[in-house]
Amino acid sequence: MRGAKAIMTAQTLEFKTEVKQLLDLMIHSLYSHKEIFLRELISNASDAIDKARYESLTDSAIIENDGDWKIRITADRDAGTLTISDNGIGMTRDEMIEALGTIAHSGTKEFLKTLKERGNKDNPELIGRFGVGFYSSFMVADRVTVISRKAGQKDGPGVRWESAADGSFTVEDTEKKNKGTDVILHLKEDEKKYLEEWEIRSIIRKYSDYIEHPVVMDVEREEDSAIDKGKKVKIKKEEALNSRKAIWLRSKSEITDDEYTEFYKHISHDFSPPLETIHFKAEGTSEFTALLYIPPKSPFDILYKDFKIGPTLYVRRVQIMDHCEELIPTYLRFIKGVVDSSDLPLNISREILQANRQVEIIKKNTTKQVLDTLRLLKENEYDKYLDFYKEFGRILKEGIHFDFSRREQIADLLLFPSTRTERPAYTTLQKYIDGMKAGQEEIYYITGASYDEAVKSPYLEAFKEKDYEVLILLDDIDDIIMGSLEYKGKMLKSVTRGDIKLDKSEETEKAKEKYEKIIDLIKEQLKDEVKDVRPSSRLKDSACCLVSDEGAPDAQMEKLLKAMGQSIPANKRILEINPSHPVFEAMSAIFARNGKDPVLQEYIQLLYDQAVLLEGSKPKDPAAFAGAIAKLMVENAQAKAS
Ligand code: ADP
Repeated sequence: MRGAKAIMTAQTLEFKTEVKQLLDLMIHSLYSHKEIFLRELISNASDAIDKARYESLTDSAIIENDGDWKIRITADRDAGTLTISDNGIGMTRDEMIEALGTIAHSGTKEFLKTLKERGNKDNPELIGRFGVGFYSSFMVADRVTVISRKAGQKDGPGVRWESAADGSFTVEDTEKKNKGTDVILHLKEDEKKYLEEWEIRSIIRKYSDYIEHPVVMDVEREEDSAIDKGKKVKIKKEEALNSRKAIWLRSKSEITDDEYTEFYKHISHDFSPPLETIHFKAEGTSEFTALLYIPPKSPFDILYKDFKIGPTLYVRRVQIMDHCEELIPTYLRFIKGVVDSSDLPLNISREILQANRQVEIIKKNTTKQVLDTLRLLKENEYDKYLDFYKEFGRILKEGIHFDFSRREQIADLLLFPSTRTERPAYTTLQKYIDGMKAGQEEIYYITGASYDEAVKSPYLEAFKEKDYEVLILLDDIDDIIMGSLEYKGKMLKSVTRGDIKLDKSEETEKAKEKYEKIIDLIKEQLKDEVKDVRPSSRLKDSACCLVSDEGAPDAQMEKLLKAMGQSIPANKRILEINPSHPVFEAMSAIFARNGKDPVLQEYIQLLYDQAVLLEGSKPKDPAAFAGAIAKLMVENAQAKAS
């Protein structure tokens, strides 16, 4: 009857489009590290056991008298199959359809997107980098069968899933006595080496040695016969293939660089070694061990809202949760690793974590260790630090805004190009202060979308003349973050904002008098556009520029706020004119002859549009702007020709 029931409930379902693409890629893979399929499947099995063990803390029915958690590998030479079994949480039919028919995790989606963008199917290194999970089995198998039964549902049916990666998969009920999952790989003809004991052994040692649960296999050994003295007999014995040593609990001196690297690769799905490893033990008010890594490259999704933050939390070697965001501040979210606490209860929940004092102490410690490590890197291994900074400087900078107590410490880690550094060299705030001119009271910066654009900005003219250094800030968040920073008693100040103290007040006062009438005329004509018109002390070659009032957002910041979907009140700017520019002398002369000459009106509009362009925005009426310039060109050409 059971068989009949199984047939009745059989379903054939189509894979989602993305899965089809992924499978196609796996089947035709030329990837040379195909062996990672085993790492992925063992890691899934281990996760399934962790889930079951965790749920069994509150629901003992989950255990089903089988709390001897293990992962079993079975190689069947006759059938040509390799089976990875676990006695973990298992899957219901619906869960199976969902988990093995669609792509849930964003990493795999991004993997496909990256491949598409590159327009190339054979980008094998990407397979390793993204860790494409279950589907990697199709690199070595032409057919995969998964048989599973949910833990705690002893009377429920098991489910059999099968696919030959040809666009569809089948699911049907089946009998399965033990809880958990068997993944059966029908190996491709030329991938049969994965049935060999030594091959399996070496892959497991390489990738899964520290997996907490035993990965066992029945191995055949010759032994002396107990009955027939002097004779050898072949017997099968279960053997654990992994050492199961939690690497983070071993002492630093015993761990080789290779072991650290392998563990990093396991938890990060990265194929490159980490940039830096931070391993420490805390004793005293809180007892815990942390093994943290700084990755060599920034993950593609680090700026996404749903980026998963934080190390994996263990309590006395039992995994409690992946990505425990309470253990690390957001501005260090690039950190990967594990934290193993001796003080926390095993059944700790998210809510409790958020208000737990031990957790707070751990976070304080990890933050300190990471920042100290970065400081040492910067001092002792600058090139390596530079690699780090290029990848994660933008993220670290968020700490200036969010971690008030460590502001100066973080500020000390920041690097900037400046008007005094040759690209690609960087300066620091300390170096900036050391090089400040006598009489300079503030640290100046300019923000921009690119170095080349920022460094040519007319806002820098007077600073160059006075030989004041200006930091060039190119990150999107600089405007929000740096304007409020005070470093060693000096405020950071944007050169496009407010009244800059360049002590030229006498000159500007004189200019105010000299051009009073012209300034009034400009004010009147542009009264809807600008708040004020005044002589500038920051310009040398350009005729005019727009500046923001103290406290009001400048053009870059307005753009950023708009991009973030924030509504911003209309902020009129101040038009600053350069009194030493000949155009104002000329305009004054025209004004003296005829205050109503229409040329004045045209010039004022042109001056304003120029200033708009210089701050990186677009004139309101580009056609009129172009028309006015063309007219000037014609007049100029005619004057020259006559
Ligand atoms: P990932 O493990 O990164 O989520 P996979 O493609 O490897 O991606 O697996 C997809 C999902 O299938 C898992 O999230 C899990 O829900 C389920 N799964 C895979 N293997 C097992 C297993 N051995 N036991 C229970 N569930 C599993």
